[in-house]
Amino acid sequence: MTQEEIYAAIKGVLDGEQILAFAKRYREYPLKLSFSAYAQGIDFLAREYLSSGLETKVTSFPADGRSVYGDRHFPLAWDVEAGWLEVDGKRLADYAQDTYSIVPFSADSAGVQCGRIIPSEELPDKLSGDEIALFTHYPGAAEISALRERGLQAYLACVNPNPVHPSLENSRRWFNDAFGAGQIDARHQTICGFSITPREARKLLEKYRSAGPVPAQYLLQSRTFSGQAPCVSATIAGRDQRVFWLTAHAYEPHATNNVAGVACLLAAARALQQLIADGTLPQPQHSIRFFHGLEVFSLYAYALRYPEEMANAIGGMSVDSLGRREIDGYQERFVLWQDPRLRQDPLHQSALALVKIASADSGIGYYTREGSSNNEDLLQDPGFGPPWSLLYGSLWSEPGAAPQNRYFYHSNTDTADKLSPLVLRTAAAIAAAQAYYCASQECPAKPAHSPRTAMISTGNTALEKECDRMIVQRLLPGPLGFGTLSDDLRAEAAQILGYHCLEYWVLEDPGSNLYLFDGRRSIFEVAQIAGPEKLEKYQRLALLLEKAGLARITRRSVVGKQDILTGLQSLGIARGALLMVHSSLRSFGKIVGGAEAVIEALQELVGPEGIIAMPAFTDAEDGSPNPPFVAAESPVEKWVGVLPDVFRRHPGVIRSQHPTHSVCAWGQNAQEFLASETPLDIFSLTSPWRKLLDRGGKLLFLGEAIGGNTYLHALEAWHLGYMDETYARMGDKVVKVQNYPDGCRGGWYKLKRRAPYWQALEKTGIIQENTIGDARVTLLDVQQLTAAMLKIFAADPAILLHKSGCRDCAQHRARISFKPQ
Ligand SMILES: [Zn+2]
Repeated sequence: MTQEEIYAAIKGVLDGEQILAFAKRYREYPLKLSFSAYAQGIDFLAREYLSSGLETKVTSFPADGRSVYGDRHFPLAWDVEAGWLEVDGKRLADYAQDTYSIVPFSADSAGVQCGRIIPSEELPDKLSGDEIALFTHYPGAAEISALRERGLQAYLACVNPNPVHPSLENSRRWFNDAFGAGQIDARHQTICGFSITPREARKLLEKYRSAGPVPAQYLLQSRTFSGQAPCVSATIAGRDQRVFWLTAHAYEPHATNNVAGVACLLAAARALQQLIADGTLPQPQHSIRFFHGLEVFSLYAYALRYPEEMANAIGGMSVDSLGRREIDGYQERFVLWQDPRLRQDPLHQSALALVKIASADSGIGYYTREGSSNNEDLLQDPGFGPPWSLLYGSLWSEPGAAPQNRYFYHSNTDTADKLSPLVLRTAAAIAAAQAYYCASQECPAKPAHSPRTAMISTGNTALEKECDRMIVQRLLPGPLGFGTLSDDLRAEAAQILGYHCLEYWVLEDPGSNLYLFDGRRSIFEVAQIAGPEKLEKYQRLALLLEKAGLARITRRSVVGKQDILTGLQSLGIARGALLMVHSSLRSFGKIVGGAEAVIEALQELVGPEGIIAMPAFTDAEDGSPNPPFVAAESPVEKWVGVLPDVFRRHPGVIRSQHPTHSVCAWGQNAQEFLASETPLDIFSLTSPWRKLLDRGGKLLFLGEAIGGNTYLHALEAWHLGYMDETYARMGDKVVKVQNYPDGCRGGWYKLKRRAPYWQALEKTGIIQENTIGDARVTLLDVQQLTAAMLKIFAADPAILLHKSGCRDCAQHRARISFKPQ
């Protein structure tokens, strides 16, 4: 079925009014703010999924404020019974009237208390303990902590006493908590906090100005405790173990954030279940799982507790902060957040295609953004799982939107009458259609590997060069973020990012993009992707992550063509040299210009009168799954290295005809060098390998590549006589290959510099070495090596083989016939 057909079928059974009615019912749970009520809400959702016929599971995580999942502490549980604040017998805040009156995670007041309200900026230096601070801005975590330590017991807050829109005069802001961790953890203690309206805040300010501190009484009955935080998952079974996830967080009490998301997904589940049951949609290949928990904490915790489930995840979509009806002539648009810079993925493409289909159908606009601007950014992190798309509404993210377009965000005015049945129905249809479409692909779109960064030239400033050396290695599993930072370090992060707010989701804004620190890209390369003008900021953030123990910064070398050329010249390699090059470019750190730069350095080194040769081996042995050897096409086996395969395609480079052991060469005499009278005998006396000896060639190892010294096989063929034969496919023929180096060579390949023959060679003094970047570069003169190896073979002709315990090496050992000349 096409995406259009799937979308139309699903939309046909969705009813926007029903989704709205469900949102109203569900909202009663998060609206109480308490963890106990939240847990009842999860049970309510579980029963709804169960009654819709889905396999449903409730999983709990310790809400102890100590357990760390991914980058953050799981919050402490908190319940509230009652809370109010009175001035002159009038309640400015009352939980019983409006739950938004209480700042979540507020401390218990130990009975009714009396105090005096004073604007926060006018508190005396020495507090007497009965002051109640009045904040007319969003109180910062450091601010609250400092006042609590000085003895403050309570505060009132209203973000702005002169609101941007008249409808906010009697509204209350929802404060998740005032500690910047989103939800409190065991490192923090709180005091009593109340949220008041701008109108009341202004009255209090006037009262204070005319008569000084304003007497007040307050009560808070609350409990912070080590509890449990449940989350619910419900599954529509596919035919295999792989799963597409639809997620919506269930904790916030606002109609559009994210009660609407929860309601949309429940409706999506019911619609899919119904359409699959009545045969309109065939059962999908993969399962579809619905998930609701605390913000995204629960999802991280779940992913880390059940890594095998995340390994089976093919992708996901999170639905959050949407569903608003038209207000003041302003209509919400859909926002699709995904980061293709990190992973090009077909799932992202299909999500975008669906949003376009839904937009054309419903008249609701849309736009896309790279990366989100909150904690859900971590869903883009490869440390978390597969690619996740985030479907939002534009209510508070509209670029350049006037404030009135988002005025009710996170306040008690975000009520169900703000919800649009059309937007709810359309969002539910997008989510369900994306899940069903992705779950129905026979060959699931596998989470793609991060694409290799294109070789970006190194910058020129000292900062750019330094940052191109620095690679951020994560020290913990899971996504990388600021959630577990101490208050001090979070304050430092805020300063680096230029924010006054310490809430971690604000810090993890698109500017931080910490998920681009993947252990391979340098800080410079991360900045090239996320914002080159922010290079210094990224460097400071990386150092902060290191200080916090979340990451380690390793430094790599950055070398260019000239560094390589100079390094090789200092080994005494001159123009006209005949070089057989083995390589492991990874050893160098970063090479500006990549493999091409290395090839150019080698060409300049020997000039056209010399010869650069590299092994270009292929596995075209008869019986291998590879196609037959074709010189112009067959790629070089990966174990030979990246360099030979780039060299093979480099202008002027030619390749010999051999199904398993072809050689590539460049230079004006390359043709003659590669020509052999007996081309299928790898190491015949007219082979390039013999010419290396006869013409005073040299073996050059760039990086740790000595384990792959093919010339030793030539010596085995000429002097030890234990080589093999095999059959290989070349074009449409099967040919017999002679002097084929089969077997394990237990005394050589893997031991590298620890191999007994190498240790013997080290005593001869013929090994020349140098360092370029992080790489060791080794040069051997072929005639000197041959003479030295013949002495080593004379003492122990089985030195390249296992001594015992290997049938393969035993067979070769039995065939040794040493020829000293
Ligand atoms: Zn062996």
